[in-house]
Amino acid sequence: MTPRILHADAILPGDEAPIRDGALALSADGEVTDLGPASDVLPRHAGAPIERLRGVLLPGLVNAHTHVELSSLRGKVAGGHGFVPWVARMMGLRASERPEDDADAIERAAVEMETSGTIAVGEVTNTLAAVAALVRHGICGAVFHEVFGLDRERALAKLGAMAEERSALAAEWRTHGFTVGPTPHTVYTTHPDAVRAALAEARANGSRTTVHLAEHAAERMFLLHGNGPFLDFATRMRFPVDGFPVPHTGPVDFAADLGLLAPDVLLVHLTDIRSQELDRVAASGAHVVLCPRSNLFIEMKLPPLLELLKVGIVPALGTDSLASNASLDVLAEARALADRFPSVPASLLVQMATAAGARALGRPDLGRLAKGLRPSVLSVDGPLGPNDDPGVFVLRQPVAKRKWVLRSRAEIPRSTA
Ligand SMILES: [Zn+2]
Repeated sequence: MTPRILHADAILPGDEAPIRDGALALSADGEVTDLGPASDVLPRHAGAPIERLRGVLLPGLVNAHTHVELSSLRGKVAGGHGFVPWVARMMGLRASERPEDDADAIERAAVEMETSGTIAVGEVTNTLAAVAALVRHGICGAVFHEVFGLDRERALAKLGAMAEERSALAAEWRTHGFTVGPTPHTVYTTHPDAVRAALAEARANGSRTTVHLAEHAAERMFLLHGNGPFLDFATRMRFPVDGFPVPHTGPVDFAADLGLLAPDVLLVHLTDIRSQELDRVAASGAHVVLCPRSNLFIEMKLPPLLELLKVGIVPALGTDSLASNASLDVLAEARALADRFPSVPASLLVQMATAAGARALGRPDLGRLAKGLRPSVLSVDGPLGPNDDPGVFVLRQPVAKRKWVLRSRAEIPRSTA
């Protein structure tokens, strides 16, 4: 590769302010050596060929919460009736259709993610089925191998079996930029001792942990009182709940008791969180991931974005799976939030889909354009008018206007070394 100077109508660096009429200089090995307004950068590289790009440059996107293994369920699970009816239908289809065996659907999803600009994901998986496809498409991030079950002995035994199942594959995936570790599904569907064991194991091997938390009212009712729609559902599904010690606390307090309110944990959804719980999350340094389109699809509810920002949390974004969403495009999550929270700057929403996601996954080298990094660079093409907001432009242009200017594989071995 030869050194490159990219000059664009604007640059969204990930976690810094947008640069209008910006320029980016890259060394022969893809390292950013200069970044700023074109009027400053270009004179410093006089004589070098300049690539003039119409539109906005930004780093690769980070989808911090997804389940790519469920991709064949696209469009098959009805939403709008709340979490319990949705999960009942999803689990029924999962048993009959075995989406994890549909390699074509998984491959299509991985292609779609790559071509829409995704560089990293948090893949929450029961079967590990989608990881190889993600690797093939140059996507890295975290494999969260999910343990499920309220029977203590069975959940702990499962955790051991899962470690064996992934052990042969994990070493190779790590060389492709994935961390790999166990994770609990939720605090009301995974026995507390298995939650603690998964967290300890993940910490021992340097992986992060994630958990679906405070997603819906039935979760809170079951944790507080041991009854309600979740218990009815579990009984119907013959899902054993007798071994679960009902904590009689809300989801966030219980997560704290289990050690999950910590900076190496990603708390996903928080759609049903209360304000005092939010203060506790903020004080803990735990990362938050919002999946607004999934919440709207399942519960017709929005996550508390303004309250999160007020307590100083810049959340990451995730798409959840195609069983509760129309696409795996994380910028569409940002756009969904822009439509409903017009007071939030569009560039901050783009930051959530890039730098905030990368930080949540423990990869601050991704999702940012900054000196010293060797990033992938995505462009959103089109004429950006002098009065157009570059963040709004990025959110409003169709996916077809995105293209990779530079697809860096260099960032993968470097950051996992
Ligand atoms: Zn999920």
